[in-house]
Amino acid sequence: MENMVNVFLFGKKYEVPASLTIMEAMEYAGYQLVRGCGCRNGFCGACATIYRIAGDRELKACLACSTKVENNMYVATLPFFPLVKAVYDRRDAAGLDSLQLRTLGKVYRSYIRGGALCTPGQKVRLKELNREISLKRIRHGQNITQATQEFVLYVQDSSLLDGLAGTTRQRFARNAARQGHQGVWAVGFTNGDYASVMASATNRDLRRRLYEAYTSRCMDGKYDNRQLSVDIVNLRLERARMLGYENYAAYTLETNMAGTPEKVRELLLPLKDAAAGKGRAERAELEAFAVKYERDSAFRLEPWDVAFYSGKLRKAKFGSELGRMRNYLLFDNVLNDGVFYVANRLFGITLTQRTDIPVFHPDVLTFEAKDAEGRPLGLLYLDCFVRKGKRGGAWCSRLRGYSCAGEREVLPLVTISCNFSRAAEGRPKLLSTSEVKTLFHEFGHALAGFLSRGPYPQVTGSFPRDMVELPSQLNEHWAWEPEVMKHYARDYKTGRPIPDALIAKFKESENFLKGLYLTDFYATALLDLEWHTVLRPVEGCDVAAFERAFLKRYDFPEHTALRFRTTYYNHIFASSYPAQYYSYTWSAVLDTDAFAAFTGTGDIFDSETARRYRRHIDRKSVV
Ligand SMILES: [Zn+2]
Repeated sequence: MENMVNVFLFGKKYEVPASLTIMEAMEYAGYQLVRGCGCRNGFCGACATIYRIAGDRELKACLACSTKVENNMYVATLPFFPLVKAVYDRRDAAGLDSLQLRTLGKVYRSYIRGGALCTPGQKVRLKELNREISLKRIRHGQNITQATQEFVLYVQDSSLLDGLAGTTRQRFARNAARQGHQGVWAVGFTNGDYASVMASATNRDLRRRLYEAYTSRCMDGKYDNRQLSVDIVNLRLERARMLGYENYAAYTLETNMAGTPEKVRELLLPLKDAAAGKGRAERAELEAFAVKYERDSAFRLEPWDVAFYSGKLRKAKFGSELGRMRNYLLFDNVLNDGVFYVANRLFGITLTQRTDIPVFHPDVLTFEAKDAEGRPLGLLYLDCFVRKGKRGGAWCSRLRGYSCAGEREVLPLVTISCNFSRAAEGRPKLLSTSEVKTLFHEFGHALAGFLSRGPYPQVTGSFPRDMVELPSQLNEHWAWEPEVMKHYARDYKTGRPIPDALIAKFKESENFLKGLYLTDFYATALLDLEWHTVLRPVEGCDVAAFERAFLKRYDFPEHTALRFRTTYYNHIFASSYPAQYYSYTWSAVLDTDAFAAFTGTGDIFDSETARRYRRHIDRKSVV
């Protein structure tokens, strides 16, 4: 029996084998703690409503999760710092291998970034800052959720709903009845209500009212996030300055691939100019189409018209066949003959369904992943369809990462959660093209979780934020390859594979109005950087004026519509993307290059390129 020693962390005792070095012991102990957070975060979104309700106990539970993000973890473990420093100072003579050296460097830097070199007075303030930021972040996110979920617009006159599908109108009527209002229609922001109205309602005034309400969420009233946004920005600035950085973005980006805010701007600004140029032409085309459609030469396109006429123009350009794509996208086929098939062709991985493992909801499907030699790689919990109480969007989390620090090899537990629309009872589960893309995307994250292995659980598979989307976005490329589509996209009634002409049409439609979309996207990414590169605390709380000044300074076209305005920019305030919304674009450069490496060989499943890619992401997981 191994001698065990005790390591204390957060006042809790962890037993680790005495033969482990101090670094490994910390890794092991830290892992026990992080594992709890991983589980809690994974389940929070999938099952509970913990982020929504501001009760004191829940708030504390959330705080416990987010402390890691806010670096309290390292502040709280500062008594370890002299030990880490002693190891770090002797690192050259310690005979460490390159992985150990990089891991040590990462841990050491985490302490420095967590305030290990601050004065005692600064450390006290740092703890306060971390706590305040965490609480305000949670409140910010809760406000967005509540403002989004509670909004309702009652429509009294059914003619205002012209253009909407019968099923959508029935849903609105049911919504109203549930709220005690008979004979009217209740339109909200969730469950696709907003998108349906913007895309299909012919009544322009209804679209305008809904658009204005949507884009002014949390700008005032009960869920006002203006002051909270500015407070978070200012507190983050104070913390970054205390730690020796010019601004918060400089602090955050130091450990990313980009390194500095300047590098991010270098990437985004030329892209933004190109997108804006294309977007202007696209908008002119869209407006000309709307003028013709309305037979009104004085018609001018407003923001609430864009989705409506885009759909009509799309139909005019690409025909209505695209609407039939869905018939070829049966969930089971997409999953087994698309997503899993690609993983098998590339990496020899197989996924077999298990029905003997307990799950947290009956919707959840469980799969065991094995490598080409039949060795287990971990478990995948797949929870794809929308249900009440589930957080919106799609995400992949690790309930547990790979580890072999404590004698025994521990395999990853990975969850994928999506909100695909639910088929009616007895109807086939057909997906939209964007749902197919999402499934490939999230599974790309899961694959990275299965393929990254190393002895140190806290660094295994933990990519820099701006590289995180490489495995997921790369995996999307295979979704639309004709060779792969022919394999999974089969008519759900006849089983016949998708016709080539439809694939070609779909691929052609993919760049439709891309310039407009990307202009908005780059504006949103640069707005994030604008907030997080301020050098002095922002005064007042006029976030609308801040946004206007920003758009003007960067010479964005007047029609630019931010994907998220400051008060409902969840990614950078409540979630963990502050100063990092650019990451999707940074990763897009990487995934485009990586996929070109495959196509360059003439074989999208080239095994040597797949091996190289696998080695590359494994090495990159420790930076
Ligand atoms: Zn992703």
